[in-house]
Amino acid sequence: MIKRPFIRLSKPRIQYALLGVKVMEPQEIPLPGIVTLLLDSPLIRKDIPFKVGDAVKTGQKLSIAGEGGPYVISSVTGTISAISPFYGDYGRVCTAISIKTGRKEELDKDFAAKSQGATLDTAAEFLGFTPGAPCFAAFRDPDKAIHTIVVFGGNTDLMIATNQYAIKSRIEDIGHGISILKQITGIEKIVIAVPRDLVPGFGHVGAELKGVDLSYPSAHPKMIMERELKLTVPAGKNCEDMGVVFMSAEAVASIGKAFSTGEIPHKKILTLVKKDGTQQLISARIGTPMGDVFSACGVSLNEKDRLIIGGPLTGSSIYSEDYPVGIDTDAVVVQDKADISLVSDYPCINCGECVRICPAKIPVNMLVRYLEAGHYEQAADEYDLYSCIDCGLCSFVCVSKIPVFQYIRLAKHELGRLNAAEATNE
Ligand code: SF4
Ligand code: SF4
Repeated sequence: MIKRPFIRLSKPRIQYALLGVKVMEPQEIPLPGIVTLLLDSPLIRKDIPFKVGDAVKTGQKLSIAGEGGPYVISSVTGTISAISPFYGDYGRVCTAISIKTGRKEELDKDFAAKSQGATLDTAAEFLGFTPGAPCFAAFRDPDKAIHTIVVFGGNTDLMIATNQYAIKSRIEDIGHGISILKQITGIEKIVIAVPRDLVPGFGHVGAELKGVDLSYPSAHPKMIMERELKLTVPAGKNCEDMGVVFMSAEAVASIGKAFSTGEIPHKKILTLVKKDGTQQLISARIGTPMGDVFSACGVSLNEKDRLIIGGPLTGSSIYSEDYPVGIDTDAVVVQDKADISLVSDYPCINCGECVRICPAKIPVNMLVRYLEAGHYEQAADEYDLYSCIDCGLCSFVCVSKIPVFQYIRLAKHELGRLNAAEATNE
């Protein structure tokens, strides 16, 4: 039994950083020699209608498993140089498609021909692999009665400025994206949520404006649901179950830009957080290896430095500079080995810091005992695992350096896998 819905959020203490009034422009990363596009599906050779050696154009769709199957959009013009399995976090298996870039860029015209009259089918067919990773599945799911779209102009972790940049510098594309979303989904209620200090002077873009508190994790979708939309997401449910789809400002800008130009955007904005903690905005072709980003920005890596994709509280470590910039890569953090806070095998000392800081008021000190022992079902039934909003604060404050958040993610993944297997068997 799940005991507690997502209610009674406590006051957090850490603040998001804001971009200054003068927006920093992203540094353009030169065209890489090879891009690698991660297709969110395992490699099954018989499903793949393209092969190594095939020529591809910028904006060309490469899909597997036929019409409606998973796809990527090529961010360069060149030749496919490799197709291989790619293993991500928690057993996630993708197909990595590497493309060697050619000298002369050619644009694929398939989307341009279909973009004249915007429809939900065209958006789902071509824009699911664009910067910001817009997802259209909930609008087509008869089990989800979507009534509101939230365009999100902040970032869910600290030190990331990617969506703030979109909201400050691409307001025209966002406005166009909002009108396209209204047209293709028929949904009239669109809310644009931006950090509270950015609200003054924010232009009208055909959406209801909400200012989000600067204290972490107020910008988390479930916090915005609770505080700004006055909708409580019960434990074990998500925002879409409550009829609300969240899309990042960058994703909505991508939709607006694509339908106004007939070209699918292929450059991702991300925030590079350097070893000294300074931030730099980057513009790179999707699929650019991280090593190219570091070389262009003067970042040198030494043995045992750590690379984190995503923010410092909720990101995941990566182990190779070949890791590519993805459609949802909002940040990469480079940590010097001297600054890495290591996890330990010390036991929980029941100090209660994690309980005090948890915005969902979960008894984390008890939860962690079940997670460490691998008793995931009891953790969910008795200690509110599914009320967790994945903010990472418990790990951040844990004096015993227990990787609480990583345990939580692993437990949710394992339970998800078990539930899926049971459903298949049934
Ligand atoms: S990550 Fe930790 S602090 Fe955040 S909601 Fe989950 S249990 Fe609470
Ligand atoms: S912060 Fe760490 S040591 Fe303290 S109660 Fe929570 S899990 Fe235990």
